[in-house]
Amino acid sequence: MAGLPIHNDCGVWHDSGKWLKGRVIGMKSAVVVGAGIWGTSLALRLAEAGWRVTVVEQHQPGHVRQASAGETRLIRSAHGRDEWYTRMAWQARDAWRALEERSGETLFVEAGLLWFARDPDGWEADSARVLKEVGVPHEIWEPERIGRVFPDFVGDDLAFALWEPKAGVLRARRSVQVIAKLARAAGVEFVRGRALPYDGTGVVLGGEVLRADRVVWACGAWLPELFPEVAGLEVTKQDTFHFGVPAEWSAPRVPAWVDYGVSVYGHGDVDGVGMKATSDAEGEPYDPENGTRMVSPASEEMARAYLRKRFPALAELPVVFSQVCQYISTPDGHWLIAEVADGVWLMGGDSGHGFKHAPTLADYMVELLDGDREPEPWFGLGDRTAARGLRTSGLTE
Ligand SMILES: Cc1cc2nc3c(=O)[nH]c(=O)nc-3n(C[C@H](O)[C@H](O)[C@H](O)COP(=O)(O)OP(=O)(O)OC[C@H]3O[C@@H](n4cnc5c(N)ncnc54)[C@H](O)[C@@H]3O)c2cc1C
Repeated sequence: MAGLPIHNDCGVWHDSGKWLKGRVIGMKSAVVVGAGIWGTSLALRLAEAGWRVTVVEQHQPGHVRQASAGETRLIRSAHGRDEWYTRMAWQARDAWRALEERSGETLFVEAGLLWFARDPDGWEADSARVLKEVGVPHEIWEPERIGRVFPDFVGDDLAFALWEPKAGVLRARRSVQVIAKLARAAGVEFVRGRALPYDGTGVVLGGEVLRADRVVWACGAWLPELFPEVAGLEVTKQDTFHFGVPAEWSAPRVPAWVDYGVSVYGHGDVDGVGMKATSDAEGEPYDPENGTRMVSPASEEMARAYLRKRFPALAELPVVFSQVCQYISTPDGHWLIAEVADGVWLMGGDSGHGFKHAPTLADYMVELLDGDREPEPWFGLGDRTAARGLRTSGLTE
């Protein structure tokens, strides 16, 4: 790479070799690699905080390979005993509402969310305790009451349900596009290209080296390929299914739901895409760039087997929409947020539960990049003890 032109204030060259932007004295600069929900949200917040920001994305914000481009993502505050993520998710709800106001788009369908609890003293009971401490609205329901919400429901094995009325469904892909648009309007420069790490602190893009005060690699499932020295990250194929339900199964009339104990979740029909019902169990190892985006018959059968048990009237309905996505998981489900060289940060390992948090996580990242706080110890690069709990029990039946 010797001899590459180097840009010290994160300006970016045209092919002609001219600066896209001039140098602004005293303005902090950042390069964010990756325009998923984490990268775009961070870029927006940095720009609003007065930083000069360049986002490098190999495809386009909201492209179908990125984890953030799912049709929908759930937003919920319950996180078992974990208070930190509970608070962050609860604050994120207001942040999503603020984004809706600013953009004039409805990104959040507040359908509420029901957690189906099999164990009276399990994860959902822990969640209810923390929700109470944090002040998140919730109720405990007798299993019979669930049957009044869903047109067809079998819950005779359940101890109770935990109801989060302020939870719901985010229009995920649309959100990325909307936030990217807000970021552009706030002055963020988006550049298309595949970036590579350079010399510890720089970014190579199309034969040029970009340097900035801060570089953030928010590269989702592409992170292990870029930083193979980071141990413990696993990328898995996740097949999702939406079933062609009748009108009475639409959100927000029908809420979102999670059967945490057997790692299945879904929500009522949003935008005519069908009712989502999908296993949350981690799939096969996966290549996010070249892996096939075809769902497997085995995954569909898993989803149908669950419907047969819980929502029997839906079990034979057609799949009207399906999507392949990927998780990038750490051993314990905590994200990876770490400064790996002076001013260079990794922001990844979302472990399948990062979407909802994006706007508040972006605020948190701005404080880290400004040096106003240290990252929480559980986000570090050190060894981690394998654990479940932030997203799923890891069990299936
Ligand atoms: C099936 C499924 C269901 C989920 N459900 C939920 C849910 O209900 N609630 C929730 O909160 N979360 C959920 N998640 C997790 C959520 O989608 C992710 O946490 C979130 O989308 C991660 O966003 P990201 O920006 O880190 O990654 P991504 O969206 O994957 O974006 C990374 C971007 O980086 C770009 N990139 C990578 N390498 C380079 C490079 N070298 N140069 C330039 N660009 C590069 C990629 O092209 C990509 O656009 C789910 C995930 C999946 C797969």
